[in-house]
Amino acid sequence: MGKYIIAGNWKMNKTPAEAKELIEAIAPLVKDATCDVIVGVPFVDLPVALEATRGTNIGVAAQNCHWEKSGAFTGEISADMLQAMGVGYVILGHSERRTYFGDTDVTVAKRTRAALDAGLTVILCVGEYLEQREQGITSEVVDMQVKVALGGVSREELSRIIIAYEPVWAIGTGRTATDLQANEVCAHIRGTLASLYDDEAAKAVTIQYGGSMNAGNAESLLAQPDVDGGLIGGASLKPADFATIVAAAK
Ligand code: PEP
Repeated sequence: MGKYIIAGNWKMNKTPAEAKELIEAIAPLVKDATCDVIVGVPFVDLPVALEATRGTNIGVAAQNCHWEKSGAFTGEISADMLQAMGVGYVILGHSERRTYFGDTDVTVAKRTRAALDAGLTVILCVGEYLEQREQGITSEVVDMQVKVALGGVSREELSRIIIAYEPVWAIGTGRTATDLQANEVCAHIRGTLASLYDDEAAKAVTIQYGGSMNAGNAESLLAQPDVDGGLIGGASLKPADFATIVAAAK
């Protein structure tokens, strides 16, 4: 399916000095990775992360961006600013942004548009709340998230979209989706992409699973046919665990 990509989401953790130290610990452990490796760091850590990853196989992601290029949006960072720094990726629509900071499918779509226009690659997060899974509407929820975010995204631009399926009930909870649950939704998303674009385009998209993936469960999750990688929160802050996950993505 899509190329394997393991991305760390550091959330609101690590000062610049700590970020440098963490990347310097991770880099030698993942240097022979056969998958792509990305670290998603807080905005203030981006300069040091770009510097510390220079000459390594590690890409750098921001954790959000605004949809306007510039203007009266106090506290916000634009996609163009990230691109100007040399950042290659941005995580958008993370459930913590949707839950705590009011991101909606519509604003995630606007951010996605801005990020693509700036030349960035987007890690687009989708996933259902526990109540939605229990109501049996997981497919409808992720379809809506995917379709709204990708409205207006061309087949060519799809090569700069990575989708992270992250069931909200599994994020930071230690409760992981089963291998089959993860694969089922990732496969469903691929089917939705095929209906929006075509089979070939859908197969080329990397669809990650995220939600308490760790050194112990990564191998079997990543062995699922429609799971092309992982978006890793807690375990991405532990170099050995992150490296074990990266090694399992082959
Ligand atoms: C995440 O932050 O995207 C995530 C999946 O977190 P965790 O791995 O800690 O569940």
